[in-house]
Amino acid sequence: MTAKRALVCGAGGFIGSHMVRRLRAEGYWVRGSDLKYPEFGSSEAHDFVIADLRLRESWEAILDEDMDEVYQFAADMGGAGYIFTGENDAHVMHNSAMINLHAADFAVQRKAKKIFYSSSACMYPAYNQEDPNNPKCAEETAYPAAPDSEYGWEKLFSERLYFAFSRNFGLNVRVARFHNIFGPEGTWRGGKEKAPAALIRKIAEQPDGGTIEVWGDGQQTRSFLYIDECIEAVRRLMESSFPGPVNIGSEEMVTINQMAGMIMKIAGKKIAIRNVPGPTGVRGRNSDNRLLRKELGWEPTMSLYDGLKKTYPWIEGQLWKSLRKTA
Ligand code: NAD
Repeated sequence: MTAKRALVCGAGGFIGSHMVRRLRAEGYWVRGSDLKYPEFGSSEAHDFVIADLRLRESWEAILDEDMDEVYQFAADMGGAGYIFTGENDAHVMHNSAMINLHAADFAVQRKAKKIFYSSSACMYPAYNQEDPNNPKCAEETAYPAAPDSEYGWEKLFSERLYFAFSRNFGLNVRVARFHNIFGPEGTWRGGKEKAPAALIRKIAEQPDGGTIEVWGDGQQTRSFLYIDECIEAVRRLMESSFPGPVNIGSEEMVTINQMAGMIMKIAGKKIAIRNVPGPTGVRGRNSDNRLLRKELGWEPTMSLYDGLKKTYPWIEGQLWKSLRKTA
């Protein structure tokens, strides 16, 4: 039997590089593409094409007619410090929309058998996420649309784009809305990192008894999903006949200050938290996994604490490496 062929876009990024590894382990032939190679190790893709996916000619080069599956993770994105300040809005909307416009079009032209698109919980309306104890993120609550960031609006637009191509041209799509994915090999500094990585880095940098800054009052709530569970969910969605959109996230909601407390416990340090003004996004957000359970008969089970425990040593190691380099 010949191996299935997959194209992973955004294969130099966090989720894309983990997906390449998983597909290889499953016996796929994999082509990765990105503006850059993975930052934290070499890619396991059989073929890796450095390309700007905003350009048509890039898609002409990477998407051939024999692709069984396309995973579209490429996006101009980052944590709150990148997407909620307003400074990057034009780039975020333009760059990601260009990538998705070509992805949908070329997937049809080149007869890709199935395409996965990674949307985000950021597309849910802000008005349903004002109560930190009771955010509403069931899939059917998406409309009337009111995402709190241009990043969320672009995700909503692109979801609709893929479904329009599905209705009009028979494109076989799977769409998931990710809720805060974290784990080893994710961005951990530089302004594009997410809350778990930022807090782990800050705590790892501090001596016992030190102080860290946390944006906002720290009472904003979120849930976080460990990378391996995300990859498992995406593979299950691809194997299912359900197109989505479906949440892929954890239902274990915590405040940001609570998560900082968990990380301190893992680090074995007592650190004071100083809450300072900063970009925080909506007040509360949690994954609602009812549809995921119904359609896939499966849901993630790893606790946040266990995921942080796996991530802490990796970021601590990166920190030591970078300190050694600057010494
Ligand atoms: P990431 O930033 O690590 O990966 C995205 C990759 O896209 C990067 O490697 C980047 O170089 C690449 N890229 C950007 N512009 C490109 C271009 N013009 N041409 C080619 N490549 C380009 O992000 P990630 O965390 O791996 O996220 C993957 C996908 O999942 C993104 O679409 C993101 O919006 C979505 N998502 C992620 C999360 C999360 O918590 N990580 C949550 C919701 C949605």
